[in-house]
Amino acid sequence: MFIGHFAVGFAAKRVAPRASLGALMAAPIFLDLLWPVFLILGLEQVRIEPGNTAFMPLNFVHYPISHSLLTSLSWATGFALLYHFRTRYWPGTLCTWFGVISHWVFDAIVHRPDLPLYPGGEMRIGLGLWNSIPATIVVEGTLFIIGVWLYAKQTRPMDNIGVYGFWSFAALLILLYLGNLFGPPPPSEKVLAFAALIIWLVIPWVWWFDRHRTIENNRATRKVSF
Ligand SMILES: [Zn+2]
Repeated sequence: MFIGHFAVGFAAKRVAPRASLGALMAAPIFLDLLWPVFLILGLEQVRIEPGNTAFMPLNFVHYPISHSLLTSLSWATGFALLYHFRTRYWPGTLCTWFGVISHWVFDAIVHRPDLPLYPGGEMRIGLGLWNSIPATIVVEGTLFIIGVWLYAKQTRPMDNIGVYGFWSFAALLILLYLGNLFGPPPPSEKVLAFAALIIWLVIPWVWWFDRHRTIENNRATRKVSF
């Protein structure tokens, strides 16, 4: 999944309004933050293969460290613990834990069976929603709209950065999504791995505009933690 993961981060703001969107968004994309790093280190492999599924021209050959269920649970627990030590904010802790896990669950819905349960395991999970482009767009698009709507409703801009930082981010995600759909596949696995590192920029970006938005309808929780 792609933009659906971001929907989880946006929606989490409703459950954990005092948490920074930086942390809430890093959680559901965490496995994809790790993935290019492991590709570059040569520990995981992907192959460019147009037609692998209708939506995604990639064959996720080997990614047991970033994307197995067992390691996802470990990443989730590590992330949530670190978050909790820094903030002591339970709603944020729970959102980050579920956020990291949600990545695996959402990927399991869209990928063809290529997600391992644990490193070294033979069994692969994947329901293959990506085999249908219309179904993919409907499901991911709906999730994304709900997520953005929840965040927009939960928070209020304090200045222009709060307005344009947020909406330009949402618009760019949609453009990247369409680019993935209609654009050519990446020229090589190496280019893909380095290009995929761009996702790290998401964290400072959302952290930045989130600081320029305040929490709507809740005076008691106006203070924003890490
Ligand atoms: Zn993923």
